[in-house]
Amino acid sequence: MWHKNTPNKSAKVQRLLFFISTCIVLISVIVGKSNLLIITICPYKWFDRWEDEKVKKRGGEYDGLKNAIGRQMLNQVIQMFPQIEDKIAYTDVGSPLSNKYYLGFDKGEMYGLDHTMQRFSPEVSSELRAQTDIPGLFLTGQDISTCGFTGAMFGGMFCAGAVLNRKLHNDLETLVKEIRKNNDTKKKSL
Ligand SMILES: Cc1cc2nc3c(=O)[nH]c(=O)nc-3n(C[C@H](O)[C@H](O)[C@H](O)COP(=O)(O)OP(=O)(O)OC[C@H]3O[C@@H](n4cnc5c(N)ncnc54)[C@H](O)[C@@H]3O)c2cc1C
Repeated sequence: MWHKNTPNKSAKVQRLLFFISTCIVLISVIVGKSNLLIITICPYKWFDRWEDEKVKKRGGEYDGLKNAIGRQMLNQVIQMFPQIEDKIAYTDVGSPLSNKYYLGFDKGEMYGLDHTMQRFSPEVSSELRAQTDIPGLFLTGQDISTCGFTGAMFGGMFCAGAVLNRKLHNDLETLVKEIRKNNDTKKKSL
């Protein structure tokens, strides 16, 4: 979840945030069942007053707020995909505090560092890299690259490259060329 201290400009901002909600569908076929994960952005400060409360015991007001947001998100998705409405067997709603508790993200963020101009400034970019000034300590993951699974995978490649002192993306390019060449040879021999 987004943790920037966005001024809470009332329902207008909230409506706007929901309007630009991003719906990400993860479909895993487990014995004929599918999962739908809907995520959106929200300021951490909507929930920070419960941050010291125990998980699952944050009380009715907290549950009410997160469930109201969850319902709104689900309704929007149902508008987009009406065919799912009568197929929903179970739903659960998390908040930035869930991300904090279960995933260890300080302010509930799910895409790492904020993607601000400052984060991509030359000064910060030169610090956010796999190689550190401490011998044997390397950084990896989305925060040395860019957010998301792809960013995290690239972060892993940068880190492995730093450890091995190799330009691994060159190795990958060579590998892709070889695979293509082999495939072409196979096709021709058919
Ligand atoms: C609900 C949700 C949905 C998402 N959906 C998508 C999506 O559809 N597409 C997409 O591209 N991205 C998505 N993301 C973002 C994606 O999960 C992250 O960008 C990606 O996982 C970042 O990878 P990472 O390796 O940098 O960090 P992480 O995956 O967060 O890995 C960090 C690891 O370090 C561990 N750790 C943390 N602190 C410590 C510590 N002190 N000691 C030891 N271990 C520690 C954590 O337990 C974790 O295993 C989603 C994120 C969330 C939360």
